[in-house]
Amino acid sequence: MKSDFLTHTPFDQPRTFDLEQLRTMYQAVDMAEELVSNAYQLSSRQWQKNPYDIKTLTDLSTDEVADTPYAQLIRYQARKKQSEFSSAKYDYYKICVQDHNILSVSHINQTIQLFPFVLYIITHELIHIVRFSRFLHLFHATEAERLDEERRVHGKTREILAHLNMPSLKPILNFQGWVF
Ligand SMILES: [Zn+2]
Repeated sequence: MKSDFLTHTPFDQPRTFDLEQLRTMYQAVDMAEELVSNAYQLSSRQWQKNPYDIKTLTDLSTDEVADTPYAQLIRYQARKKQSEFSSAKYDYYKICVQDHNILSVSHINQTIQLFPFVLYIITHELIHIVRFSRFLHLFHATEAERLDEERRVHGKTREILAHLNMPSLKPILNFQGWVF
């Protein structure tokens, strides 16, 4: 049933970003990191303490691929090499971008452009990371707490992006189809 899972959407659209789309995505990622850094007054050293990586569909393992959201945030724990102390453990995050779901939306809704859409998605995920790292929200929360956190993070994402003078963001800020 999922034989063409990695290659095509139900609309016979490619499921993964092409090179041009990847370039656009990484530009949006750079901008999102700058915006979130400014909003929370983070230095690059603070990002190093909470490292994250962004992967797109071709690099995701089966359990990192999802049917609905546009990105999935996964937290991994790592231990610093040659250390026996548990305090030397650190978290790192993987933002698993779901190319296929993003492409489906921009295929159905032509007003949704890739750059502002990804900008919103990555800004949103980075805010999650900042809040986890500051213990403003726990990774293993109840479903109700999780939904509450989603509302809060969407609110903060809008607040940060609302300052930008970018007309293509308007349909994104009005977009009703967020599933995270
Ligand atoms: Zn979220």
